[in-house]
Amino acid sequence: MFSTEQQLALNKLTEKLLDGQETMPAPERADALRRVINYHDWRYYVLSEPVLLDVNYDKLFSDLKQLEKEDPELIKADSPTQRVARALTEDFTQVAHLVAMLSLENSYNADDLNDFDTRIRNLTNSTEISYCVEPKFDGASIALVYENDMLVRAATRGDGAVGEDITNNAKALASIPLSANFSAHGIHRIEIRGEVIIQRDVFERMNAERKTRGEKEFQNPRNTASGSLRLKDPNEAAARKLEAILYHVSLAEDKDGKNLLAGKLESHYHTIEILHQCGFKTPMHELKVCQSVEEIQEFLALWDNKRNTYKIDTDGMVVKVNSLAMQQRCGATSHHPRWAIAYKFAAKQAQSKLLDVEFQVGRTGAVTPVAKIQPVPLAGVTIASISLHNEAFITDKDIHINDTVIVERAGEVIPYIIGVVADLRNGTERKIDFPKVCPSCHEQLIKPEEEAVWRCDNADCPAQTEERVIHYVSKDAMDIDGLGRAIVIDFLQRGYLKNVEGIYSLPYEEIVLLEGWGKKSVEKLQKGIEESKGRPLWRLLNALGIRHVGVTTSKDIAGHIKTIFDLPGLSPEDLVNIEGIGPKVAKSIGTFFSNEGNIHLLEALRDFGVNTENRPEDAVAKNNKLEGKTFLFTGSLQQFGRDRAKQLVEENGGKLLSSVSANLNYLIVGEDAGSKLKKAKEIPSITVLTEDEFLALIAG
Ligand SMILES: [Zn+2]
Repeated sequence: MFSTEQQLALNKLTEKLLDGQETMPAPERADALRRVINYHDWRYYVLSEPVLLDVNYDKLFSDLKQLEKEDPELIKADSPTQRVARALTEDFTQVAHLVAMLSLENSYNADDLNDFDTRIRNLTNSTEISYCVEPKFDGASIALVYENDMLVRAATRGDGAVGEDITNNAKALASIPLSANFSAHGIHRIEIRGEVIIQRDVFERMNAERKTRGEKEFQNPRNTASGSLRLKDPNEAAARKLEAILYHVSLAEDKDGKNLLAGKLESHYHTIEILHQCGFKTPMHELKVCQSVEEIQEFLALWDNKRNTYKIDTDGMVVKVNSLAMQQRCGATSHHPRWAIAYKFAAKQAQSKLLDVEFQVGRTGAVTPVAKIQPVPLAGVTIASISLHNEAFITDKDIHINDTVIVERAGEVIPYIIGVVADLRNGTERKIDFPKVCPSCHEQLIKPEEEAVWRCDNADCPAQTEERVIHYVSKDAMDIDGLGRAIVIDFLQRGYLKNVEGIYSLPYEEIVLLEGWGKKSVEKLQKGIEESKGRPLWRLLNALGIRHVGVTTSKDIAGHIKTIFDLPGLSPEDLVNIEGIGPKVAKSIGTFFSNEGNIHLLEALRDFGVNTENRPEDAVAKNNKLEGKTFLFTGSLQQFGRDRAKQLVEENGGKLLSSVSANLNYLIVGEDAGSKLKKAKEIPSITVLTEDEFLALIAG
């Protein structure tokens, strides 16, 4: 229908319309929007090969709607806004639905939901409304008709009024009953709506198999489901493991043709129950009946999180008025039912251009390619750079500079490149050349057989030193206040700092003279560095940046040694005997201590006064022993400083209070405790502890 040249031109036009920079007059812009939307409809519905993300399609569509709303003169008979019609493949018989299949209006936030609720209250003239909330499955819509308990017809959605008869393919789907006992509910004829989907893991397996057979992989579960429904051979459709989930009854009549909806069948929930009983797959276990917008929102938030790991793709939720009588009172516009609304989750995918690739050297020498992309907002943050992990990742995904990439970010997960849109390539793409030498020190890079990453093996590599110092001072390591990333880099460049131990011999008399520094800030820095000398052993262990040894492993190890100098003497067998330590970690620790430079580093740190011992008060609770308990220290502490005391509480999951009140659980008293102790004694719920008793509490 569209030639290759036309497609290229329309892809370009789409980009232009989306970037918001063009300044066409309204009629021209409306015309351009119509053309690109029709084109993307064709790719989506006919080819099942979209090149546009749904969010971007929605944006184009709403832009056109907005233009037409502002100037009704712009509305043309062939505007995609004027028809629900989509192009149909001609091979299947067209059949009219018994009741038109309307689409749902979309909502995106709490305001939209509140507006919806207000409208419903006005339309129904009721204050007590219950809503049914269920996931919106991302698949291909179907409508099934049963008469006399027998499946007589299945149809695709088509344009909403007319669909394609796919009865034979539907019969091949095991999740669609060929007969169902509707007569037990007094139902003679029923039309049911639902979605044909492919579960994610099934889809992945299917693609893996296709890959091994050298066949083209499917793009996503939804397109695959929709394409499969229209396969000519029902057996092939069945082999694709499609499933139908039914979630709506649009028509139900008894023997005399009397409408049972809002009569004998009272609520949406009731109809779902019947479908469930008749052997259909329904959202029975996923839905929730909610009594308020607040309750709806809580449920939506739950699903926004849950959907990341849910077995079926969902692109949102549907909120429906539960009472069928109220649904009828609300009615429908020519496009949407008024009693339901779709809620769209915030986009977790975006498209962007890959502008360049930088190669970063980590503290263990690993060289990581990092993609610089055109900044793009996604799930609440703007993303400009993304790790490409290693060379194999780039090769597997066939990623090039100038490619259009699809970026995903789910929840707090770090952003990830899912793949490239190869159809949008225009010839300017360039291969990503992986460097042979370290970008920082220019030493030859090496890659051990069993590993995926290239590394720089030069112990004096400036990039590695920088990352090592930054890691040493970081929050989970030695937690040095006043010595952040930028300052570390500055000090390294000025030569104030050459290695990790250099932190403890900084030339303060020179730093104080630097621009931006003064007596106060230098004192603060000095204090932060001084305090780091007293940190518990596990922090030092973590600060060393040994591969595979993070916070948890450091804590595991610290509990089993007297001093850090015990570690070089432990064999791999000794190490794996420590709970939580596997052979990989043991090997990595062995490698670290076999390097004499690292032993010298530890000796230097010890000589500067950094704690290298496992002290009794450092006993680390692994299971938040003080969780939910509150603490306050008073008097002059003899066994540890005030800062250390606070740290102990926090590290073990407890909370610090600043005054004595009924909320306080424990008051720990040093020497010469005064008014706080007196006040605490008047509150029976407060337990007064000595320093020793407090330590015993932590040690359990
Ligand atoms: Zn290097």
